[in-house]
Amino acid sequence: MANPTYVGAIDSGTTSTRFILFDHSGSVVAYDQREHEQIFPRSGWVEHDALEIWERTRQVIGATMAAAGVTASDLAAIGVTNQRETTVIWNRRTGKPIHNAIVWQDTRTADICKELETRGHAEAIFQKTGLPLATYFAGPKIRWILDNVDGARAQAEAGDLLFGTIDTWLIWRLTGGRHVTDVTNASRTMLMNLATLDWDDELLAILDIPRDLLPEIRPSSDPNFYGLTLKEGPFAGQIPVCGDLGDQQAATVGQTCFAPGEAKNTYGTGAFLILNTGTEIVHSRNGLLTTVCYQFGDEPAVYALEGSIAMAGATIQWLRDNLGLIQNAAETEAIAQSVDDAGGCYFVPAFSGLFAPYWRSDARGVIVGLTRYINRAHIVRAALESICYQSREVLDAMNADSGVQLASLKVDGGATANDFLMQLQADILGTKVIRPKVAETTSLGAAYAAGLAVGFWPDQESLRANWQVDRTWLPRIDETARAQGFAGWKKAVTRTFDWMDE
Ligand code: ADP
Repeated sequence: MANPTYVGAIDSGTTSTRFILFDHSGSVVAYDQREHEQIFPRSGWVEHDALEIWERTRQVIGATMAAAGVTASDLAAIGVTNQRETTVIWNRRTGKPIHNAIVWQDTRTADICKELETRGHAEAIFQKTGLPLATYFAGPKIRWILDNVDGARAQAEAGDLLFGTIDTWLIWRLTGGRHVTDVTNASRTMLMNLATLDWDDELLAILDIPRDLLPEIRPSSDPNFYGLTLKEGPFAGQIPVCGDLGDQQAATVGQTCFAPGEAKNTYGTGAFLILNTGTEIVHSRNGLLTTVCYQFGDEPAVYALEGSIAMAGATIQWLRDNLGLIQNAAETEAIAQSVDDAGGCYFVPAFSGLFAPYWRSDARGVIVGLTRYINRAHIVRAALESICYQSREVLDAMNADSGVQLASLKVDGGATANDFLMQLQADILGTKVIRPKVAETTSLGAAYAAGLAVGFWPDQESLRANWQVDRTWLPRIDETARAQGFAGWKKAVTRTFDWMDE
């Protein structure tokens, strides 16, 4: 291979797949993106066609390589990042999935989770995996396919079937049959023991899943390579595939949050906060998940606490699509700044209950503090504030669990385009908020993992050197104002409780 100049990242998300080429400075050189179909067979069920995702992956690779005018020999390594938890089971001989992929959002495994709880397994699962019993994770989805697809269990026991999350599925296809996943994706299956970083026999027995079905668990950045791309594959040449991370962990790596206490928040439809807790496994007492953050080569795994917020940018979409209060998300910035504050109004978007740290499924959304003084701008501002207050609640929970006080928050995602939202976040947290120049942090993280494995980047320090600040926001309000505002938010949250009769 003659002086490869780029690293490629495949980012297979919930709604679309992209392929991005990065250069040595971590800048985007070329990219292409294609959507895939969202399949809703019943209420609460969400599926993807894994073969379509593979087809889109081939297309975006082809289009990006053509646009950049490069061939396989120009690429040093390939990294993969993916929507997490989404579950595929396929026949190892035919390569055909035996069922559509069951997506992380799918709730069909509620009964399986309830049964596990009734059988008293919740505590063992939490202690070993850091996860609550929830439909979100892959293990119960595997169990559902084995129990519900004709002949699946017999085929699995005969060793004919393979399980993978989307990373595993794509790497298997790209490399012509290497069946691997990384520690971060494995940590979302409910089958991996966080301490051993291996599949756990007790958990496999509890969920009745044969070990043969499961991929080998490898580091997120692997100098031994998961495999080489096939000459007859979409790259038309052999490139090491050696980076693999779940999407939120990839964003954390892309943000170079390599020290304990460093955190990032991604503001998209929802918001996802991840706090690096170092090599220590911290079990949350405040409703957060414990997960693997990354593992580079033969270094010890680094763990993280994770908190998710269901309604972040989605609250702004709701103002636009359901209320017609705004024309587009971008104008919230000017509208919110046309008033000095939210006029005592609070908006708690508990549209599907409250997640961390409350976990109240009986809660529903409220807009409180309404008087005749309140106008459209106050409500828009309260909606932006709700994104920041929810983030503060998750960060407070992280601080309580880890004992680490956050020095600064690195941000990414579509809604960080809103400068005023970022100022509000700094004010409400009382912490510095930093937005990097490269917004594609998820793909960048996968590229970093792959590039580290082949020495394209020598070490974590060289990645940190790539990371450049676009803009920083410092808190502008004093502690008294911050405490008053937060007390009002807490009071507003209590008004959402006990709305649904359970
Ligand atoms: P996802 O990856 O979840 O699809 P993105 O990172 O693309 O999300 O961000 C899109 C979300 O960000 C949408 O929910 C949108 O309402 C919100 N958003 C985009 N621009 C702004 C803005 N200027 N102000 C507030 N919210 C915004």
